[in-house]
Amino acid sequence: MPGREPARAVVVGGGISGLVAALELRRAGLEVTVLEATDRWGGCIGEHEVAGLTLDSGAESFATRTDAVRTLVDAIGLSRDIIPPHPSGAWVLLPDGAEELPKTGVLGIPANPWDREVRSALGLWGSLRASLDRWLPVRTHRAHQSVAQFVRARMGRRVLDRLVAPVVGGVHSADPALLDVDMVAPGLRQLMGEKGSLAAAVAAQRGASRGTKAGSAVAGIRGGLHRIIGALVDRLQREGVRLRLGERVERLERTTDDAGRSLWRVGSTPGTAGGSGGAYDAEVVVVALGGPAAVELLSDAVPELAGHEPIPGPEVKLVTLVIDCPALDARPRGTGILVAPQVPGVAAKALTHASAKWEWVQAAAGPGIHVVRLSYGRAGEPDGGENPERWEPESDDELFEAALGDASTLLGVVLTPQDVLGWDVVRWEGSLPFAAVGHRDRVSAIRSLVAARPGLAVVGGWAAGNGLAAVIPDARAQAIALAASLGREANG
Ligand SMILES: Cc1cc2nc3c(=O)[nH]c(=O)nc-3n(C[C@H](O)[C@H](O)[C@H](O)COP(=O)(O)OP(=O)(O)OC[C@H]3O[C@@H](n4cnc5c(N)ncnc54)[C@H](O)[C@@H]3O)c2cc1C
Repeated sequence: MPGREPARAVVVGGGISGLVAALELRRAGLEVTVLEATDRWGGCIGEHEVAGLTLDSGAESFATRTDAVRTLVDAIGLSRDIIPPHPSGAWVLLPDGAEELPKTGVLGIPANPWDREVRSALGLWGSLRASLDRWLPVRTHRAHQSVAQFVRARMGRRVLDRLVAPVVGGVHSADPALLDVDMVAPGLRQLMGEKGSLAAAVAAQRGASRGTKAGSAVAGIRGGLHRIIGALVDRLQREGVRLRLGERVERLERTTDDAGRSLWRVGSTPGTAGGSGGAYDAEVVVVALGGPAAVELLSDAVPELAGHEPIPGPEVKLVTLVIDCPALDARPRGTGILVAPQVPGVAAKALTHASAKWEWVQAAAGPGIHVVRLSYGRAGEPDGGENPERWEPESDDELFEAALGDASTLLGVVLTPQDVLGWDVVRWEGSLPFAAVGHRDRVSAIRSLVAARPGLAVVGGWAAGNGLAAVIPDARAQAIALAASLGREANG
C-alpha cells in the first residue's frame, strides 16, 4: 500500500539462526533489528586465536546432504571458499583398538553390514546380526523411540555400541539411549518405511555422497567456518538491518501503540558488551535463542508454554592444542577419531585433527606443526551405566592435562608439554540442544502455541535439529512464513 510504513521486526539472538531469519525478513521488506546479548555475532560459530593461528572455536563444518548451507554461502559471496575435508576419513577407538570408520553411514549406521570397514569393526557375528535388518518387518509407526532402541532393534547391539554410540557421542554429546531418533536422524524412519530396511534407508539418505570416505559428507570454509558470520553480518549491514550487540533481551509483552494497534514490546538490559538496553516495538518477533531460554522469554506472552520447557543441553568443553609434532604429518588417524563410551582411560569423546582435515589449517600452521581439538562432556552415561567411573576434567588445567594425555593415546604419539606451542579451552554451556526422546513432539507443541500469537516465531538448533544444515533452512522457512502471515493480516 503506497505510503504505508514497513512493518518492524525484532530478532532476539544473533547466532546463525537469528541472522538468517533477519536476512529473510529484510528481503520481505520489513524493517529489522537484531539484538544480541554478547559482544560478538555468531553464537556457536566463533573464532579464537591459538599460537598465532585464527581457528574456529565452535562449529567447523557443515553437512552437505542438502544445498541449504551452500545456498546461504552463495548468497553472501563465499562460494569459492567452500572446501572438502581431506579424504583420509575418520577413525573410531573401540575397547579393543582403533578402526577406520566405515565409508558410508548415517550417524554410524552402516548402509551395508558387509563393507570391509563395517565387517572389521563388528566382526562376523556383528555383521550377520546387522544384516537381519533386511528381513525384519518394518514398523515405522512407533513414535518416541530413542536412537539406541531403534538401532538395536534393527541391527543389533554391536552396531549400536561400536559404530553409533561413538558418532552420536561425538556429534551430539549424548548417549544414544537418551536421544530421539526422529530429531537426530530426521526422515530416516520414514525412509525405512519406503525402502524396506534400515540399511537401504541409510544408502538412500547418503545418496550422492555414497562411496566417499566417512567425514566427506561435510564441507568447510577456507579460513574457517566463522567467516560465514562475518560475511552475513556485512550483508545485513548493507541491507540496512540494525545490528545491536550487548542487548540482553529479558522481556517480551503485548502492548498497544498511540493509534490503538497491538504490537510486541521487546525489553532489553545491557548485556556482556555493555550495550544500552531499551525497548523495541515491533509487529514481528523472532526468538532465536536456545530452547530453555526461548521458552523462558516467551512465558509471559504465551503462558500455555508452562510445562513445555526443553531439557538443557550438556556443557561441551573444547581443548585446542597447537603442537610441534612432525610425526603427525602422516595423519595416523585420518581427519580425527571418535571414542566409544566404553573405552577406559580416555575422557575425550572425540579428537579432530584439524591440520590433517583442513588444508588451510595445515598451510597456516606450517611444516611439522599440528592443530588438534578434543571435546569433553556428555549428557548421560552409556546405557546401563557401563562406565560409572568416567572422570570428567573440569578446570582449564585439568582439561589441558587430559587433552595432552588423550591426544597421545588417540594419535599413538608421545606428547609432552614442551611440544605445545599454544592451547585454549572454550566452553559451550547448554549450546548443544538436547533432543531427548519425545523432543520432536515437544517442539511441535511449542511451535503451535507460539504460532497462535500474531507475528511470533521461534527458530534455532533446539527446534530445527542440531547443525547448520538443519538450522539454516528452518530459520529461513519460519521467517518467510511469518512475513507472509503479516501480509495476510494486513489484507484480511
Ligand atoms: C561446540 C559445538 C560444535 C559444533 N559443531 C558443529 C559443526 O561442525 N557443524 C554443524 O553444522 N553444527 C555444529 N554445531 C551446531 C551448530 O553450531 C548450531 O546448531 C548452530 O550454530 C545453532 O545456532 P543458533 O542460532 O540456533 O543458536 P546459537 O548459536 O546458540 O545462538 C544463540 C544466540 O543468542 C544469544 N542470546 C542468548 N540469550 C540472549 C538474550 N536473552 N538476548 C539476546 N541474545 C541472547 C547468544 O549469545 C547467541 O549468540 C556445533 C555446536 C557446538 C556447541
